[in-house]
Amino acid sequence: MIFRRKSKSGEIKRHRPKCSFCGKQQGERGIRLVAGSGVYICSECISLANEILWGHNPPAPASS
Ligand SMILES: [Zn+2]
Repeated sequence: MIFRRKSKSGEIKRHRPKCSFCGKQQGERGIRLVAGSGVYICSECISLANEILWGHNPPAPASS
């Protein structure tokens, strides 16, 4: 039985992670990503989730 495994030699993915929900990448205008188990969620989706969960908008980030 031949088992092909992908390059085991610690191949690090260099591409930037992106939000698993909306696809935004970290670095896009103030987007920050939170890594989960194989997924990522961005600050905007977190805000959206907060709205859905709590029914209100979280305080807007200070505009500088
Ligand atoms: Zn997102």
